[in-house]
Amino acid sequence: MKVGFIGLGAMGSAMASNLLAAGHALTVWNRSTAATEPLASLGAKVARTADRAAQGEVLCSMLANDQAVREVILDSGLLDAMDRGTVHVNHATISVALAKELADEHAKRELEYVAAPVFGRPDIAAAGKLNILAAGKPAAIEKVRPLLEAMGSKVWPLGDAPERANVAKIAGNFMLASAIESMAEATALTRAYGVSAADFLEVMTNTLFAAPAYQGYGRLIAEQRFKPAGFPLPLGFKDVGLAQAAAESARVPLPFAGVLRDSLLEALAAGDEELDWSALALVAARRAHLDERG
Ligand code: NAP
Repeated sequence: MKVGFIGLGAMGSAMASNLLAAGHALTVWNRSTAATEPLASLGAKVARTADRAAQGEVLCSMLANDQAVREVILDSGLLDAMDRGTVHVNHATISVALAKELADEHAKRELEYVAAPVFGRPDIAAAGKLNILAAGKPAAIEKVRPLLEAMGSKVWPLGDAPERANVAKIAGNFMLASAIESMAEATALTRAYGVSAADFLEVMTNTLFAAPAYQGYGRLIAEQRFKPAGFPLPLGFKDVGLAQAAAESARVPLPFAGVLRDSLLEALAAGDEELDWSALALVAARRAHLDERG
């Protein structure tokens, strides 16, 4: 298929290279051009402007956040440059409000819009094993299914309204942040009594909490391996904010989101911008002054 890909960050680069490996004709664009070079060497065409990457049958985008999507997709005139019937697949984790606005703006121009946010960090993306949530018109999802299957191990359809995929992604990340925060606080408690994070998490993640989220993030906390960040703290902070905004507009109380927001903010205030969000464990340890206790 003739496909465009916009947004070649940690996730987008890996996803785009799997589209190339599956034999699709790919045209890529990224704000900073250096990220296009590895893909060009694998056979991708490089577009000089974002709208030139949007001339294929399908446009995939994996931009950082609402602001980037607004600038590159909505405010730039890119949608007006696309041919009717083209499918735009937006993989970014964005707000429910922007997802609805995007669906409207695409519909006005007779463009198809599929929201397809993903679970999985950059290494999982590189392995083509993402879990992809997909919402949009069934025919549009079917058309792009070969692309989704090249990037992911499973596609999870969530209905016609695109924002449903976004709210599920946001709610899933809220659960992940909650799991990390609870391990961060629990390990601060055990450490205060002389039980290391590694020993405690070894027990918990092999018994009551033997699930991938606890095991993966538990390992990072046990090994204090917060760098390089697979999912940087600022992205986690963004996603908790998205959960709060979605909750407020649907009048759904989400009390724990306030705790997560403040813990993430405390990490950012301490200068931990470049660390993985599992560094919430550092916040909990600092609150308990564990390092000063010896
Ligand atoms: P990233 O490495 O920071 O990449 C962000 C991309 O957005 C880059 O291509 C960047 O371009 C572009 N961008 C940012 N602001 C822009 C602007 N104003 N105009 C044009 N382009 C802009 O982030 P990522 O880790 O790939 O994440 C991308 C999305 O996937 C996010 O919504 C994130 O929440 C979601 N996600 C991430 C993970 C993960 O583990 N990392 C997992 C699942 C979902 P430049 O290269 O020029 O900066």
